[in-house]
Amino acid sequence: MYRSDLAEATGVPPGSLVRVIDQSGKFLGTALYSSSSQIAIRMISHGSVADLPALVAERIRAGIGYRKELVSNTDAYRVIFSEGDFLPGLIVDRYNDVLCLQILTQAMDAAPVREVILQTLREELQPAGIVERVDARIRELEQLPPLASRLLWGEKSSTVFAMNSTMNSGVRFLYDGLEGQKTGAFLDQRENYAAAAQYAHGEVLDVFCYQGGFALHFAGRTSSVTGVDSSRPALEMAEKNATLNGRELEWIEGNAFDLLREYAAANRRYDTIVLDPPAFAKTKRDLEKALGGYKELNLRAMKMLRPGGILVTCSCSYHVGVADFFEVVADAARDAHKSFRVIENRGAAKDHPMLLNVPETSYLKCLILSVSN
Ligand code: SAH
Repeated sequence: MYRSDLAEATGVPPGSLVRVIDQSGKFLGTALYSSSSQIAIRMISHGSVADLPALVAERIRAGIGYRKELVSNTDAYRVIFSEGDFLPGLIVDRYNDVLCLQILTQAMDAAPVREVILQTLREELQPAGIVERVDARIRELEQLPPLASRLLWGEKSSTVFAMNSTMNSGVRFLYDGLEGQKTGAFLDQRENYAAAAQYAHGEVLDVFCYQGGFALHFAGRTSSVTGVDSSRPALEMAEKNATLNGRELEWIEGNAFDLLREYAAANRRYDTIVLDPPAFAKTKRDLEKALGGYKELNLRAMKMLRPGGILVTCSCSYHVGVADFFEVVADAARDAHKSFRVIENRGAAKDHPMLLNVPETSYLKCLILSVSN
């Protein structure tokens, strides 16, 4: 609920547990209050909650149980996904024996809550280390004192993890909890890597490759793989990951827009292209510009595909809805004068649960297309 929807919240301490009533006095449920965010209250229960730390422990256990049922063939997955696990403001990722957590709200930052988070994770998952990744901008918005990313508990902040272990021996990645983007890897794409690998063939171009997620899944089943990213540290890690998997791939540091323009002009052709750009629309205001960006990328990639080629095209902008994304990709196909079949229409992996009544929990789109002429 936004601050503008609140009739009254005088004297409510930052991060406290509040009972929410409507103007007629009807009880709506229990929420976490933020004194500074535009999202003033985040509902956590339809009923009353007496003990927040106890509820947090119970929900962490439930989140872990849900993954035990639904996640397999990986030792890296999201253990807790904020609203998706009814714990707004808490993200926990597991990378083999290292856990990485992010705390994004006043309520989750309170000392007794932090304590129970660590204790429950240690008991349930027995990690060798727990790191906290701090988003400095969010702490500032939540008016929380600045903190550094650091090892919170245990000895280990780096490790090796493996995913999609049904594919040969799986794909292995290095993890350093104190480096890189997001919490270290883009775990939401895990199932999409395996899905796309089924169709990938020939010469591959993985655009916005980061540390090689798609590229490494395709190596060995295609004739060549080239990854493109603007971040040198990401590509250095990608190269180390390639070595770890005994693969040889080509990595190019550059701006994807410029590179695609150049390659298209030079009549380069590929059999498989992946487009996995960063979120172009961080706010609703950016939507038009973002759609223009997606259109340009998709159009250029489509022109470069050989007949029978595969395009894996993604968007992680929440503000670009599924329908918007379909429309912009379809528009690009029309301009490219090519017809595509939608082989798969996918979203984030199951360890990133989407709530039926919270559309904001759904953000990732991943279309796997094949060009028929
Ligand atoms: N496909 C990756 C995730 C990509 S995240 C995976 O599965 O792991 C988006 C990536 O785009 C980041 O690595 C970022 O460094 C890169 N990036 C952002 N802007 C870019 C640009 N203009 N050109 C090339 N890469 C860019």
